Amino acid sequence: MGIYLRPTEIEEAVAALAARPLTILAGGTDFYPARVGKPLDDDILDVTALAALRDEAVRWRNPALAEAAATVGGWQTQAVGTLGGNICNASPAADGMPALLTLDAEIEIASAKGRRLLPLADFVLGNRRTALGRDELVTAIVVPKPHGTARSTFLKLGARKYLVISIVMVAALVETAADGTIVGARVAVGACSAVAKRLIRLERDLCGRTLAPGIGALVAAEHLAELTPIDDVRAAAVYRSDAALALVARSLEGLVAP
Ligand SMILES: Cc1cc2nc3c(=O)[nH]c(=O)nc-3n(C[C@H](O)[C@H](O)[C@H](O)COP(=O)(O)OP(=O)(O)OC[C@H]3O[C@@H](n4cnc5c(N)ncnc54)[C@H](O)[C@@H]3O)c2cc1C
Repeated sequence: MGIYLRPTEIEEAVAALAARPLTILAGGTDFYPARVGKPLDDDILDVTALAALRDEAVRWRNPALAEAAATVGGWQTQAVGTLGGNICNASPAADGMPALLTLDAEIEIASAKGRRLLPLADFVLGNRRTALGRDELVTAIVVPKPHGTARSTFLKLGARKYLVISIVMVAALVETAADGTIVGARVAVGACSAVAKRLIRLERDLCGRTLAPGIGALVAAEHLAELTPIDDVRAAAVYRSDAALALVARSLEGLVAP
């Protein structure tokens, strides 16, 4: 192994990144599996002692994000893995992405030159590709508080119930008026395109409808036009499309009050 740095202040971390190329390491649950059988010779910037990264930005409860976090790996993975690592790793199957997209999350990025904010949709650019510069560090995920009536949910389909990478996952969030009319809707699907996608047409069609049993029947194949599922070891593209349609409809039904 090369250099190993574990700063306690953001300023120290960004100064180190400005000085030399470093690989950022958080929980290591994506980092280490990607290096099995390879020499571990990266120069490391370990961010686990940066107290500022642990500052809890999402102080209110968001069911979809909590449900998504609870499906990531097993307890050991959840104990050390971070949401920042999940986003920065930029896997098409990153379970944190859909819920954060429905929350209109923004990514705070720091470097020795200063800080900038990017919408999450502009931060993750493709499979394993982000807008992060070589000298930059993600320092926060900024989530605006949704409307008081907001309800959200997260559904994940894998080849088994537990400890599984997603074949499809869906996060949905709706905001309603007092009479149950949907005034805001955000729905995102992961693992069906290089980057998780919001279903903008569906969101538009949901607004003005009443959130009531049967709302899932509104979802049609054309609402999923943004998705570009692929065949891989986990599922065929056509299966992914069918499953996405079913999961989106089910997630909306799940938001109807009992
Ligand atoms: C057994 C197992 C099961 C898993 N199951 C799932 C699952 O079900 N769903 C799922 O989505 N994922 C799963 N994962 C993947 C992984 O656990 C998650 O993606 C996790 O959130 C990664 O976080 P981390 O802190 O461990 O990231 P790390 O491995 O430390 O880092 C991941 C990437 O992000 C970069 N990075 C980390 N923090 C920052 C930062 N602050 N600024 C800039 N770059 C940064 C690193 O350089 C690296 O490229 C699993 C992993 C394992 C080992």
